[in-house]
Amino acid sequence: MLINGHWIDRKDIDVINPYTLEVIEKIPSLNREEVKTAIDIAEECKDSMKNTSISQRYKVLIGIANKIKENSEKLSKILAIDAGKPIKQARIEVKRSVETFLSSAFYVKELRDEVIPSDNRLIFTKREPVGIVGAITPFNFPINLSAHKIAPAIATGNVVVHHPSSKAPLACIELAKIIEEEFRKYNVPLGSYSLLTGLGEIVGDEIVKNDKVNMISFTGSSKVGEGITKKAGFKKIALELGGVNPNLVLKDADLKKAVNSLIRGSFVYAGQICISVGKIVVEESVADKFIKMFVEKAKSLNVGDPLDENTDMGPLITLDHAKWAENLVKRSVEEGSKLLCGGKRDKTLFYPTVLEVEPDNIICKVETFAPIVPIIRAKEEEMIEIANDTQYGLHSAIFTKNLEKALKFAENLEFGGVIINDSSLFRQDNMPFGGVKKSGIGREGVKYAMEEMSNIKTIVITH
Ligand code: NAD
Repeated sequence: MLINGHWIDRKDIDVINPYTLEVIEKIPSLNREEVKTAIDIAEECKDSMKNTSISQRYKVLIGIANKIKENSEKLSKILAIDAGKPIKQARIEVKRSVETFLSSAFYVKELRDEVIPSDNRLIFTKREPVGIVGAITPFNFPINLSAHKIAPAIATGNVVVHHPSSKAPLACIELAKIIEEEFRKYNVPLGSYSLLTGLGEIVGDEIVKNDKVNMISFTGSSKVGEGITKKAGFKKIALELGGVNPNLVLKDADLKKAVNSLIRGSFVYAGQICISVGKIVVEESVADKFIKMFVEKAKSLNVGDPLDENTDMGPLITLDHAKWAENLVKRSVEEGSKLLCGGKRDKTLFYPTVLEVEPDNIICKVETFAPIVPIIRAKEEEMIEIANDTQYGLHSAIFTKNLEKALKFAENLEFGGVIINDSSLFRQDNMPFGGVKKSGIGREGVKYAMEEMSNIKTIVITH
């Protein structure tokens, strides 16, 4: 853990390689008093961080981006070992995190305030940092989802207390080293960023409840997110939560392209992505053809060691989660679904699993966070209702050559994003990103996060 520029090394919690199940590191587990101390120090840094110049923030963000780039291969290997992410996918995450820091540097200079028309007064707005941002991040994109909070927070002059997931904390520790180094180089107060490792129920909970923290920026499960809404009091909150993302395939779609894109959307990082394909709804007349092509491709994926360059899909994050996923598939089959491939588990490796299901099957209701894809046959006029039949509302997708129809669908889909002719997995880091319903509150995507992380002050000059 890093507090006020000091590293504290304690061996409290085991960090486990999800593929080999070996203990690869031990990290400190902070108690409440230690978290409070870090927050007190953050509070003392608020004013000096607010007063950092635009060029200082710009330089530090560019400096962090460059350092991540220099260390790309090392960071990618850590993600492969610590989070079980196939190395070729880990490299993409690291590259994206460079872009996230660069984008934030760009917006330091480009995010503008407004002048409001008035008859006899000069009215303008001025963005001010919220103060202390409590950044709580999940296991699945340790670097880039941390970047999505830390970079816009620095860009807007905020102080950050960061709690990473204990399931995959090692890349965040490396990122913290880079941040500390660049803060020293550009004279940014060291207490403005602290990394607080440990248990979510203690470290995360203290950050959420502590009155000195001004905003919670949380990415994780809807269950923990819901708890945060009850405990955060008057803090600003931004919640990026779970999803069951419907992907619709109409009969006029380019089936080959749809299959390729949906295979990626379903099985990248073993489905452990909030915008992974949650269910596929395919129009009846092309369903047989689509299912045959999709299952063939799913069976051809290489499942194995994340460090192997040829691996398409590595392990699930924990043994418990893999067992849970296996049981869920069994339950789905008991409820009447047809297992088309997969359903098998070898320790934490869970093989690509495709099921043909009715829309009310259990597998369509819960976020599996596993390589499990339910396929539903439907008539075009039934598709919207099936897609919207979920408590979540993160991403959705539609494949069709008819753009007019796609836009009509987009109007009726109750999701934060609708992707046309690519899967729900598509995300570009500078686009607004977030959900409705149980998928969250607020938007990320650098510029939008910067807006969330600042308060607008309105200044009126009377002539
Ligand atoms: P999680 O909710 O278990 O943990 C997320 C973070 O919250 C961790 O740092 C954890 O330590 C902390 N935490 C746990 N209990 C807490 C508490 N009581 N108070 C405060 N903090 C607490 O999620 P996870 O398993 O790490 O990640 C998977 C989930 O994250 C999935 O549901 C996925 O959909 C979601 N997710 C959403 C997005 C998005 O942008 N919408 C992106 C990635 C992941």
